[in-house]
Amino acid sequence: MQNGKNKGGRGRPGGRAHSGAAASASADAPFQKNEQVTVDIIGLTHDGEGVGRADGFTLFIQGALPGERVRAKVMKVKKQYGYARMEELLEASPNRVQPACPIHKECGGCQLQHLDYPAQLEWKRQHVIDNLARIGKLNVAQEPGSDGVVVRRAIGMDEPWRYRNKAAVPVGVGAVEGGLVAGFYARGSHRIVDMDDCLIQHEQNDRVIRAVKRIGRELGVAPYDEETGHGVLRHVIVRTGVVTGEIMVVLVTNGRKLPQSDRMVQRIREELTDVKSIVQNVNDRSTNAIFGDETHVLWGSDVIYDELDGIRFAISARSFYQVNPAQTVELYRKAVEYAGLTGSETVIDAYCGIGTISLFLARQAGRVYGVEIVPEAIEDAAKNAALNGITNTSFEAGPAEVVIPRWREEGITADVIVVDPPRKGCDPALLETILAMQPERVVYVSCNPSTLARDLRVLEDGGYRTVEVTPVDMFPHTVHVECCVFLVRV
Ligand code: SAH
Repeated sequence: MQNGKNKGGRGRPGGRAHSGAAASASADAPFQKNEQVTVDIIGLTHDGEGVGRADGFTLFIQGALPGERVRAKVMKVKKQYGYARMEELLEASPNRVQPACPIHKECGGCQLQHLDYPAQLEWKRQHVIDNLARIGKLNVAQEPGSDGVVVRRAIGMDEPWRYRNKAAVPVGVGAVEGGLVAGFYARGSHRIVDMDDCLIQHEQNDRVIRAVKRIGRELGVAPYDEETGHGVLRHVIVRTGVVTGEIMVVLVTNGRKLPQSDRMVQRIREELTDVKSIVQNVNDRSTNAIFGDETHVLWGSDVIYDELDGIRFAISARSFYQVNPAQTVELYRKAVEYAGLTGSETVIDAYCGIGTISLFLARQAGRVYGVEIVPEAIEDAAKNAALNGITNTSFEAGPAEVVIPRWREEGITADVIVVDPPRKGCDPALLETILAMQPERVVYVSCNPSTLARDLRVLEDGGYRTVEVTPVDMFPHTVHVECCVFLVRV
């Protein structure tokens, strides 16, 4: 089903010759820009574009689904592939649905809303399989009981809407009263489109964003202008503890000064009584990163609390915390199941964040060592262990690839290592250390199937066998694919 762009297109088998005036890069292409073509869609790329074939040539078409036939206008032609825009749906996929969100096209945040939910889950599973096979060179079991890695059905949500506990909205200058807009970047641009309602966002977050926006306008807070670097308010981040109902509001500003900050805090407190924490973060750099280095509390607590499976967590502004709490419980339970603990094991949780997986593991392990690069997250992790009366954990701040080799020199060794790296996957030095430490089991939690597959290949070559993979749908309607993987030492 997959056919990523990076794969490199295949040559076209006997297509029409074409010698257009276009750049020589398109000399082999059978089509010219602006040409109308009929295209059969045979797959979806990792970012949700339809992969079409016409005249043996690959065309990527936004919004088209596998199994469909469309009429499209060629927009851009390269040597081995091109891009086209859908003009007419000639034959629709039985899995096509009307997107629930009226602005889904403009926003681009939910790339799969036009595909029904069961088909999204099946696509995610297939995406994992394709990456394991293509990048990881792994043998995937074709049916239960046959040889190879078992890839389970993706664990989905019963109600796949309003699942996000965190909203991070860019603020900018717009043609509204007060001049302040906040919402999302229009697909493929940095133009901010004002938005008040996001269907994958917890309703409470939408309500808070709307109120903060209105208060900002009324108080005349100057929105940040990316072009000139002027203005004050750059981002508003809202996080809700879905179980506790506690809310944190983070105002990211272009410098330390936030004029009217006292009045702003007062108004937010008056209007939103569930808010427990109002924090300012200073980001005066010209960058795409949301947060700057400096954070201070304007009012209330420096953390909010939430609960997962009976464990309480303190979460500070800059700490990583999974955005879909219902599915997070599913994911962590799977990680604990794969860890196969009996109560005596030593476990390392690499990339541990605020110690979420660590504390799930600690309930069934001898001792858990967690490591994480963000110092505030490690402070939260230690706090969280104490908060829950959990005494068999130790946490250390630093790069996992540096700290774990040092632990090894100090004589710490693990029966199980759990890793949950960011999108770029594990550092090679960490994989080397895992191979040297030789834990009996490795549990790999991944948010990126391609770096997962690359890392699994390294572990397989070093003496591990990938046994089972379970995708867990943390991000319904988007192309993001999360999975939990179980490996054993052979
Ligand atoms: N397991 C946690 C966090 C996963 S997100 C949870 O489920 O909540 C990945 C985490 O890795 C982030 O907290 C990030 O700050 C951290 N990180 C990124 N690079 C790292 C590195 N080199 N060493 C240790 N932690 C790192």
